[in-house]
Amino acid sequence: MSVDPIDLGAELEAWRARARRFAQEEIVPRVDEAEATETFPRELFARAGAAGLIGSHYPVAAGGGGADLRAAMVIREEFSYRSVGISSGLGHQDHVGTAYLQRFGSAAQHEAWLGPALAGTYVIAMAITEPDAGSDVRRIRTTARPTSSGWVLSGRKTYITNGPLADAIALTARIAGTDRFGVFLVERGDRGFACERKLSKLGCRSSEVGELVFDDVEVSDERRLSPEGGSPLDDILKVLVIGRLLVAASALGLGRRAIDLALARAATRETFGRPLLRRQEISAMLAHATTALRAAELLSYHAAAIAVDRGDVPILECSQAKLLAAETAVEITDRMLRVFGGVGYLDDAEIARLYRDARFFTIVEGTAEIQHRIIASRLDPTLDPEPSTVGSRPTARRKTRI
Ligand SMILES: Cc1cc2nc3c(=O)[nH]c(=O)nc-3n(C[C@H](O)[C@H](O)[C@H](O)COP(=O)(O)OP(=O)(O)OC[C@H]3O[C@@H](n4cnc5c(N)ncnc54)[C@H](O)[C@@H]3O)c2cc1C
Repeated sequence: MSVDPIDLGAELEAWRARARRFAQEEIVPRVDEAEATETFPRELFARAGAAGLIGSHYPVAAGGGGADLRAAMVIREEFSYRSVGISSGLGHQDHVGTAYLQRFGSAAQHEAWLGPALAGTYVIAMAITEPDAGSDVRRIRTTARPTSSGWVLSGRKTYITNGPLADAIALTARIAGTDRFGVFLVERGDRGFACERKLSKLGCRSSEVGELVFDDVEVSDERRLSPEGGSPLDDILKVLVIGRLLVAASALGLGRRAIDLALARAATRETFGRPLLRRQEISAMLAHATTALRAAELLSYHAAAIAVDRGDVPILECSQAKLLAAETAVEITDRMLRVFGGVGYLDDAEIARLYRDARFFTIVEGTAEIQHRIIASRLDPTLDPEPSTVGSRPTARRKTRI
């Protein structure tokens, strides 16, 4: 007994089958240890790369799979069905820093770093958030000072996924003395760069998240990923807005897993002479959960279809999809945990892990409250969406493959 995802057509279902096989063979055997030790199984980057499951939505010429964003979404769904933590680690390699490099890096930078990143042999984390700059990214204080041949980078970043194990960090910094920003590649081993600590989390324990320090790190100008004269912060925001659909997909995978677990439990656990599934209270919870999941699924793939068809970033629909999918994951795991009674509350119960993991979705790539503000500002143009908020501003129409 299980909940089927919507049928997205032959091409995308082939991606789903490939991702599902990989998740079953490579993720499932590693989840328990990775969660218990709070350690991401690093070898999975190269294995996923070799299986063609990193960069599915990048052009073939760049080393990608030549599909569109929806392929990355079904992959993220299937990975998250098995582990949101591992899916998050692999997902950051698939999008964020790598996506910024692919969209805005030069040909020489692609040659040096993009191919290895998509092969999973060069791990790139993206560092935007600082202890005093999260939702409000314009408060970033990390600075880039120009020198005669490059840049000196100084500052501190926090909650950086894959930060403790990455080969390189795509670092967002303010250009000293200006209101402009830039993105710079700092490599592990660069003098002055360190991951100061790995952070322990409520959920997603198999992903590694760290606090990074940049103490006068000197890099050459070839390490500046943001093109001269561009608007790096706006460009980052575009990458992050599309990333909301990948977070939504991850929430869908988790939600589906939670329902499947609860269904299996309700079918076999008997009380007062009947399986729980035969009880109206329990079956109603399951019916509601599957309906909510389907709604979030439809909205997420609807938003993705707009992005793909228009070659544009549909800010409103991305926010709505991410908000609904994240809140639905939180609600579903709350309800499904109840189906388990006491055993669901035990630390090593899978449903307990999903309950903890679901909270992740309401925080990353713009919190739920920030999505509310973005959506509300479209309803009432007089409401200030906060110009410094991630993805609050519409972007110019531009036809590209997303
Ligand atoms: C597991 C994990 C992984 C992460 N990975 C990365 C990563 O790889 N790279 C990276 O750069 N960052 C990463 N982050 C950081 C994440 O993007 C931020 O935590 C998030 O943007 C929120 O910022 P903040 O934590 O500073 O919260 P704050 O911005 O301080 O917000 C605190 C609360 O206030 C609310 N709030 C803030 N402003 C408003 C407003 N204007 N109106 C109403 N409510 C508001 C928020 O919704 C939230 O509830 C990660 C975080 C976590 C937890």
